[in-house]
Amino acid sequence: MKTGFIGLGHMGSAMAANLIKAGHEVTVFNRSAQKRRELVRLGAQEASSVAAACGSDAVITMLADDTAVTDVTFTKNGILQSLSREAIHISMSTISVTLSKRLAQAHAEAGQRFVAAPVFGRPDMAAAAKLFIVNAGDPAALATCKPLFDAMAQKALSIGTEPAAANLVKLSGNFLFASLIEALGETLALVGKAGIDQQSVVDILTSTIFPAPAYKTYGDLIVARKFEPAAFAAPLGFKDIRLTLAAAEALRVPMPLGSLLRDRFLRLLAQQGGEHLDWAAVGGLAAQDASL
Ligand code: NAP
Repeated sequence: MKTGFIGLGHMGSAMAANLIKAGHEVTVFNRSAQKRRELVRLGAQEASSVAAACGSDAVITMLADDTAVTDVTFTKNGILQSLSREAIHISMSTISVTLSKRLAQAHAEAGQRFVAAPVFGRPDMAAAAKLFIVNAGDPAALATCKPLFDAMAQKALSIGTEPAAANLVKLSGNFLFASLIEALGETLALVGKAGIDQQSVVDILTSTIFPAPAYKTYGDLIVARKFEPAAFAAPLGFKDIRLTLAAAEALRVPMPLGSLLRDRFLRLLAQQGGEHLDWAAVGGLAAQDASL
């Protein structure tokens, strides 16, 4: 398939590379031009503007946040003005429910199609084409996107025809991730201060009652205090908690744990250098609080 790809950060660069490896014809655009060059070396066409990345039947966005997706889509000569009728904007960034609804409406009014396809998995999983993609939108559009999803993911699951549903599921998943990072941090501070080997505790728990990969990944990172370089930066995690709380507020759903996590992220980001740490560093706060 021919597709444009906008946003070559930690995730997007690996995802675009896998599309190329699978034989798709990919035209890449990134705000910082040097990241485009790396993909060109792998076989991509370079676009020098957002509009130039919108010449195919589909364009994927994998950008930081709502501001970035809004800028790239609604600006003069942005995606909305540049994409052909019937072409598909595949939004894979983690964005708000509100923006997803706005995008769906704007693309429909322009005669274009919009699919939300946010992902689970860190950059190493993106590089290995092992992402999980949660997607929603018009079934025919989703069927068109399938070869692209197959090149980037180990599994792509649909959650219906309303794109914003996929965004809410993604935010819900990240709320659960952040909750387990905080819970693991407190657990490991407790056993650590008692003089028990923290790695042994992670190994015991993840080989018995908590076998989910997330406990192993974040347990290991917290024990090793390996929070740099960031694979998923703390400001992006903070963004996701705020977006979860915004969705919860609109739906009148109290999420007291979400409010607590918002403050834990603020505590981390207030620290010198906190902005550059991985969001796993939230799991290191309990040890600091315990003077461990
Ligand atoms: P990242 O490495 O920080 O990359 C962000 C990308 O957005 C870069 O291409 C950046 O361009 C671009 N960008 C930011 N602001 C922009 C603006 N105003 N206009 C145009 N481009 C802009 O982020 P990432 O880790 O790849 O994450 C991308 C998305 O995937 C986020 O929504 C994140 O929440 C989600 N996600 C991340 C992970 C993870 O583990 N990292 C996992 C699942 C989902 P420049 O290069 O020019 O700065």
